[in-house]
Amino acid sequence: MKFRSTAGKAPEVEFCEALLQGIAPDGGLYVPAQFPRVEMADFADAATPAQVGAIMLAPFARGSELESSLPEICREAFSFPIPLKRIPSDSGPLYVLELFHGPTAAFKDVGARFLAACFERLNRGEERPLTILVATSGDTGGAVAAAFHGRPNTRVVVLFPRGLVSARQEKQLCCWGDNVLSLRVNGNFDDCQRMVKQAFADTALNKALRLSSANSINLGRLLPQAVYYAAASLNYWRETGQALSFVIPTGNLGNGQACVWAKTMGFPIGKIVFATNENRPIPDYLDSGDWLPRASVATLASAMDVGNPSNMERLRDLFPAVELMRVAVSAYPVSDEEIRAQISRDEKARGETWCPHTATAAHVYDGFSDSDKAQPWALVATAHPAKFETIVEPLVGHPVEIPEALARLLDLPTHVRDIEPVLEALVGAVK
Ligand SMILES: *Cc1c(COP(=O)(O)O)cnc(C)c1O
Repeated sequence: MKFRSTAGKAPEVEFCEALLQGIAPDGGLYVPAQFPRVEMADFADAATPAQVGAIMLAPFARGSELESSLPEICREAFSFPIPLKRIPSDSGPLYVLELFHGPTAAFKDVGARFLAACFERLNRGEERPLTILVATSGDTGGAVAAAFHGRPNTRVVVLFPRGLVSARQEKQLCCWGDNVLSLRVNGNFDDCQRMVKQAFADTALNKALRLSSANSINLGRLLPQAVYYAAASLNYWRETGQALSFVIPTGNLGNGQACVWAKTMGFPIGKIVFATNENRPIPDYLDSGDWLPRASVATLASAMDVGNPSNMERLRDLFPAVELMRVAVSAYPVSDEEIRAQISRDEKARGETWCPHTATAAHVYDGFSDSDKAQPWALVATAHPAKFETIVEPLVGHPVEIPEALARLLDLPTHVRDIEPVLEALVGAVK
């Protein structure tokens, strides 16, 4: 299968090329040249995400170097449970799709692990390791470091702003060592991003270090995310004969986009609703038809603080007219005050402790009409609340239990280097 750029000015490439390039040379994002349509009968023997992924992603990898290892890559990426859990509701059936049982307790583990499994294989036989460079303000860096840690012939360099990530987040960024270099930058997140951009733009350095990225626009993160929507909807449909609808906490629109792709391929998915925080260009676009990206504002659901969601380009590519997009998806913004209230309320009403991101989805669901609620819905839980304990614990009035995988990381020794916010300092540290 070939992938084309949304900007339409770059040649089509195959699967591995799209993963390695990340972004197309014309500045566009790679999308499948056409979407394969699945038949439910093809999945008769598949139930787990690893099994479903191996079948549904096969057409994308067909003819590529990774075709034969796809089942193994899926087993490595989906090595933890992704349960669809029933929760109390006054109306129709309500579920939570828990995406936070991976090593760093957020859904980004899935995409990062898939990409790492692909990159390791693509890089076998090379003399020098591939260097994955990431600037992070939170979840991404930890997931990428965890996914690449210990993988031969790869290394990860993570840059994060000193004093601007939470203590637990910092620990997840710095507990690795070995092939992970954690750099605490004496600056802010924009400094970190600028340094990464400068490194990529420096052709000699880029070549010498064999730089690559693992950011959320990479196709290798989006495709595996489509798998958990496919598996959950497939299993639900088998049990009940009904299509499952999803409410998805959304920032850069990678996770939401993946659900749209799974539905486009023919999986039995009902409605798709995006919940955003006060960064609201997506809901505003669906209301007004005007695409007005803007600077991001800081909210309690910080991993969704995106004022210009990159993956909107992919969604608009699929639904070029706003009228078409309105049929396919809807989106609603949620304020910090509403997030707080939802976390407190659902602790009692539903016995669920939400992270601030997942709380946006619960809030949006509660605002649905009775006829909408009569359908089966799944709220997508993007992170474990223990990652955001400083926000969640005061609202629920008790400590949040830390999942075992996360607790293990928090106990490891710290490996970190402090650097100044200039390219030379980055170069000095990585050489
Ligand atoms: C990254 C992230 C999101 C937003 O996902 P997108 O794919 O950027 O829309 C939501 N919740 C959590 C916990 C995240 O880490």
